[in-house]
Amino acid sequence: MFLFVCAGCGSELTATLSRVALSVHAHQRFGNGLQLPALMESGTFAVEPEPWRPPRRRWHEIHPDESVTRGIYAPVEVLSGGTPGATVIAPGDTRGTVLIPEKRGGACCGLAEANGPNMACEACGLPVASRIDDCSSWQAMWLTPDAVCRLPAAGRDAAPLTWAELMTRGNGTPRSS
Ligand SMILES: [Zn+2]
Ligand SMILES: [Zn+2]
Repeated sequence: MFLFVCAGCGSELTATLSRVALSVHAHQRFGNGLQLPALMESGTFAVEPEPWRPPRRRWHEIHPDESVTRGIYAPVEVLSGGTPGATVIAPGDTRGTVLIPEKRGGACCGLAEANGPNMACEACGLPVASRIDDCSSWQAMWLTPDAVCRLPAAGRDAAPLTWAELMTRGNGTPRSS
């Protein structure tokens, strides 16, 4: 189990989370005007190893030498110049952040990402994440790689409950009579 803290001031920015694989559908957009559910299950996070956050440039803006340096030999629609390693979490697992209103993006019915993060650390104001909830996009909170630190969540109820604990602490489903 891990939690993420602000790289600027150390404030906690997430609940404790378990790492899972990133869905192959993570960057897919769907429909027009359609509200998609959250990409991530609550209590989990996933990491995108490839850069894909802003700034993004179109293929014709990129010098062939640069694409070769990046290991890309066939045209792609856009190439990201963002730092690799963005973490995605369920929006409800975020703690201690505030919206940066002028960065809400030009989206039609929710928040998007215009140029950089649209959420800031509540304690120090460092831009730390991008909340995405516009139509056609998965609801998600993308943590900015350079602005957060991942820490092991030691001693924070990290281990899952045993069956015996679950039997006493968990809420069972009543048997129908
Ligand atoms: Zn901070
Ligand atoms: Zn929309």
